[in-house]
Amino acid sequence: MKIAVLGGGTAGFIAAAHITRYFPKAELWHIYDSRIPTIGVGEGTTPRFPLWLDEVTGIGPDELQARCGATVKLGSHYEGWGLRSTDFVNRFQPPRLFGYHFDAGRVTGVIADHVQAKQLDARVETLETQPGGVTIGFEDGSQLDCDYVLDARGFPAGAWAQAPEDPEIIRMDWIPTGRAMVRRLPPSTETSMSRLIARPHGWVFQIPLRDWTSCGYVFNPSLSSDEDVLADFDAFLEDEQVEPTEIRVRVSFPNFMRRSWFDGRVFTIGNAASFVEPLEATAIGATIMQVRNAQRWMEENHPQSAPDLGAVDHANQTMRSYVLRNSLFIAWHYACGSRWDSPFWNLAARSLERASKHEYLTGHVDAMTDFLDVGRDLPGAQIGTCAEQDRWEREILPKLTKFIPFGNFSELNFAQVGHGIGYYGANKMSVGESANG
Ligand SMILES: Cc1cc2nc3c(=O)[nH]c(=O)nc-3n(C[C@H](O)[C@H](O)[C@H](O)COP(=O)(O)OP(=O)(O)OC[C@H]3O[C@@H](n4cnc5c(N)ncnc54)[C@H](O)[C@@H]3O)c2cc1C
Repeated sequence: MKIAVLGGGTAGFIAAAHITRYFPKAELWHIYDSRIPTIGVGEGTTPRFPLWLDEVTGIGPDELQARCGATVKLGSHYEGWGLRSTDFVNRFQPPRLFGYHFDAGRVTGVIADHVQAKQLDARVETLETQPGGVTIGFEDGSQLDCDYVLDARGFPAGAWAQAPEDPEIIRMDWIPTGRAMVRRLPPSTETSMSRLIARPHGWVFQIPLRDWTSCGYVFNPSLSSDEDVLADFDAFLEDEQVEPTEIRVRVSFPNFMRRSWFDGRVFTIGNAASFVEPLEATAIGATIMQVRNAQRWMEENHPQSAPDLGAVDHANQTMRSYVLRNSLFIAWHYACGSRWDSPFWNLAARSLERASKHEYLTGHVDAMTDFLDVGRDLPGAQIGTCAEQDRWEREILPKLTKFIPFGNFSELNFAQVGHGIGYYGANKMSVGESANG
């Protein structure tokens, strides 16, 4: 079997290492254009990444810390969100699970040691799918035929288009942010949680790595200018008694997903397939899901020539559902506003309301109502502070009723966020209503 992975960002390296591990006899090509930079942000993960890394490379926390300054992440600490503006955490569940904080640039170097492939530094211009395979067309006119392609070439041009709408792209306009500015600050003594701090123009993230803290301000560029955000960014750092450093990254991002990520031969993965703002750091986890689905498909279907279109459709539906549900859970974080009364928070508090009017989301919003109800009856704050697995099994596990996820999230995540933002105290709001009226 001949497989090509396109892209040298986090998604491309995850895919190339995964194929190396599960298809050791395949002829693997890893192709990316060194003239096109990687996005270079993406520093927090969910537990999916450490589980994947251990399975595919055998690397655990000690080695990752030694080789690239990673830290272990137990969840996220929210500050200033919701009706009560009190801090809360959304801890990974159960507590034996953990994610990582890492430097996106350095982690690909570690994963690269586990890729065995023919490397090609070239720009891919076209992908042509036929029943029996894919033809990759390069800038210089040459071609390469493969059985399968995993395409991780980053955000597609169509994800930005306002009009005319690209029929392949579903824009998730209910997500209220679209731009970030990122600085590097001195390291923090507390590294186990990402900090997510509500600010007037959006929110600030702090990702504590061993050697520095990555700190970004995420906002809506149609409501706030870079200058306005920078002024508040500096004010925030002054409150924190931290000296402002230069801005390292200014990046705009589309909240979008492809209607189909897979056509029977080409699997689109990473930022090329979908992106939802980084609030819950779901992107790398989604990449791992896509790569696992691709593996399963190739194991079950190769060398069949024409794919079963019903099965292709089903695979696309499954991925769409996963990303759309993550986007709903993320949109819900804003439902009770924050300590700031500002144009951003007025718009953000209605994120779920905007989402619930979207044609793609009707069924998913109904499914979410169940999770909201179950979360109401669970002790959110107790779940967030339960750090021992044994105690969790005694005190939390018996209270669970659903045991299935909503996208990446469980009833335990709903309970922590819902009680944390004060959603359940806000007089029986239904999905789509905001606390601000
Ligand atoms: C502000 C911000 C914060 C984020 N934080 C998180 C986070 O905390 N956690 C998380 O999981 N994710 C986060 N993300 C998402 C993160 O960007 C992705 O998880 C990750 O970087 C994957 O990127 P990628 O590999 O898909 O694309 P990229 O990094 O853009 O890589 C694309 C690759 O494709 C190559 N390429 C492009 N076009 C061609 C071509 N025509 N021919 C050949 N090669 C080509 C490029 O050379 C490059 O190597 C964040 C994103 C943003 C914007």
